[in-house]
Amino acid sequence: MQQLLQTTIQYIKGVGPKKAESFKKLGIATAGDLLEFYPRTYEDWSRTVMIADAPQNRNCCIKAKVCKAFQPSVIRYNLVIYKLSVTDGEEDMIVTFFNQSYTYEKLRGGGEFLFYGTVRYNGYSLEMTSPSVLETADMYIHPIYPQTASLNSRQIEKAVSQALKMLPPNIVDPVPESIRKQYGLCGLGYAVRNIHFPESNEALEQAKQRLGFDELLVLQLGLARLKGDRKESVAHRIKKDFTRDFWKLLPFKPTNAQERAVGDCIHDMKNNAYPMNRLVQGDVGSGKTAVAAAVCYTAVKNGSQCAFMAPTEILAEQHFRTLSALFKDTDVTVGLLTGSMKASQKKIMHENIRNGSVDIVIGTHALISDSVEFSSLGLVITDEQHRFGVGQRSKLIAKGEDPHILVMSATPIPRTLALMIFGDLDLSVLDEFPPGRQKIDTFLIDSSIRERAYGFLKKNIDSGQQCYIVCPLVEQNDEIPLVSAEEYNKSLDETVLKNCRRAVLHGRMKASEKERIMREFSDGDLDLIIATTVIEVGVDVPNSTIMMIENAERFGLSQLHQLRGRVGRGKQKSYCILVSDSRKENTVERLKVMCKTNDGFKIADEDLKQRGPGDFFGARQHGLPELKIASLSNVETIDNAQLAAQKILAVDPLLKEHSELDVETKRLFESVGSTERLQ
Ligand code: ADP
Ligand code: MG
Repeated sequence: MQQLLQTTIQYIKGVGPKKAESFKKLGIATAGDLLEFYPRTYEDWSRTVMIADAPQNRNCCIKAKVCKAFQPSVIRYNLVIYKLSVTDGEEDMIVTFFNQSYTYEKLRGGGEFLFYGTVRYNGYSLEMTSPSVLETADMYIHPIYPQTASLNSRQIEKAVSQALKMLPPNIVDPVPESIRKQYGLCGLGYAVRNIHFPESNEALEQAKQRLGFDELLVLQLGLARLKGDRKESVAHRIKKDFTRDFWKLLPFKPTNAQERAVGDCIHDMKNNAYPMNRLVQGDVGSGKTAVAAAVCYTAVKNGSQCAFMAPTEILAEQHFRTLSALFKDTDVTVGLLTGSMKASQKKIMHENIRNGSVDIVIGTHALISDSVEFSSLGLVITDEQHRFGVGQRSKLIAKGEDPHILVMSATPIPRTLALMIFGDLDLSVLDEFPPGRQKIDTFLIDSSIRERAYGFLKKNIDSGQQCYIVCPLVEQNDEIPLVSAEEYNKSLDETVLKNCRRAVLHGRMKASEKERIMREFSDGDLDLIIATTVIEVGVDVPNSTIMMIENAERFGLSQLHQLRGRVGRGKQKSYCILVSDSRKENTVERLKVMCKTNDGFKIADEDLKQRGPGDFFGARQHGLPELKIASLSNVETIDNAQLAAQKILAVDPLLKEHSELDVETKRLFESVGSTERLQ
């Protein structure tokens, strides 16, 4: 498609230089880009429902006759409300428009129309607010594009329809016919036309299927070629295993799962002809840090330096404290490098990394800055890997000579996804928790009993435990009146928690401030932290036993699970209190999943089902290129695309005979800065 339509957007009929600028802001520079700008959703005008059967909270199309037009009410000089009563013969509803005098005039003449929108009960009657309206005659499935301030869906639609006219009647299909046949895929031209202007729901499904397949195929081709990266090298092969000595340094006995994971790593580093590339996956609290420390110990004892990268400063600082304490009576030296350190401190640390006097350096993204040079980097560990892009990780790896790689993640990524994201990474699972852990009891409450919840926190604090309260980020949006963490903390002055030692922690604070507060909290000098989600990943203070989450409906399940994982890390019974006033059925349903299970895998599965993988990982967190249309939860298509990719690469490993696919692969991976790693 791209190759076919390199025409600059400006030369599409109806798009001048000014609109072209607006299109560029959407990442659309050519006619090809435009055709790949898929509708966000569709208005299905081809199926109508009766008013009484209108679905809740969802758009539908209703065919109804106008029976009465009410007098417009002028609210302000720039706000006029128009209401009409319509009927489908069995039930009436009100349709309401704001400032749309033209539509009102058209409707008040009477007659039958199609109304597209959401039907709600307003307390008196059923009502559809600001519906789209069409005369009964034209029934079709209508594309809705993501709008911007300067381009509305209608304008995009017009340009798309012009671009479609430029498609040659017989486009060369980049997917070989044999593969299309095997998986029952429609032709490319048909797919492109029907993704924008579907002839029918079936045609739309076929179009989605085909374009989704293409995208996954290209992704798989790219990943397959990335995997070729694993090259033979024994640059940092270890000679001796020091794990037994390490266990003696630990204040506890390792779990079997931890021993197994460390054993897997040592085996890789000692016996393989190529560097280790392993993912340790374990639910929150399963003890991944100790695994990392163990592997570092043996690597250092064999003469390597280690880099340990964490996604936040709080977490880096915490790992630094943990490892410094573990290694304090050994000859292993630990250093910290974060972006917010003073330039002079950084300079000293850079020097120590360069001359090799620091064995293990723990840090944030600061580790990948150009001025960091290692004397002999042999092991790279990334914590909560899904938060880094593929590009960032490879940049750190490039600082060593074929270093071993260990990735740690609490996000229980489904197997197919893990393979796609991490390629041929080997996997160790921590499927066991340290002894003495109890289930975290989780409750869903509404704000009417918040005071009682405070009383519960107070009781726990009085008996020497610590708590968190999480409020969502402040939004400058009148519709969602969320309190900021600071204000929330102030409001506690009026409650039973007034005399507790409290502190606020939020993203906009200076890193040094955050660190100070976390240190005070972990030293037990604070009782209660009121935080935004900065504490989401990794924070480990075993004496904290209650996690209270305000506006819980605003978080995804996996995120709630991560937050809840901040408690229940010690021997004491822990609790999680979700506060939400949402009455939406599926929201309540979702939050109840949290009350039912503590199992991260089950929660991730549920999350994936309810929200789809895009949201599940958050934008770009997985480091995979962004997919426009394919669904990562569609396991069958993923499998098919993988088989097809293998088939193509078996006969044409460099895609010389499939140049369109080659170009597409490079283009997809450009977006994550990994092209240099494609063969
Ligand atoms: P995560 O896997 O979430 O990163 P951590 O490594 O932070 O988990 O460990 C969670 C807590 O469990 C820490 O306080 C750690 O000291 C403790 N811990 C880890 N392994 C064990 C063990 N084998 N026995 C007892 N406590 C352990
Ligand atoms: Mg951790």
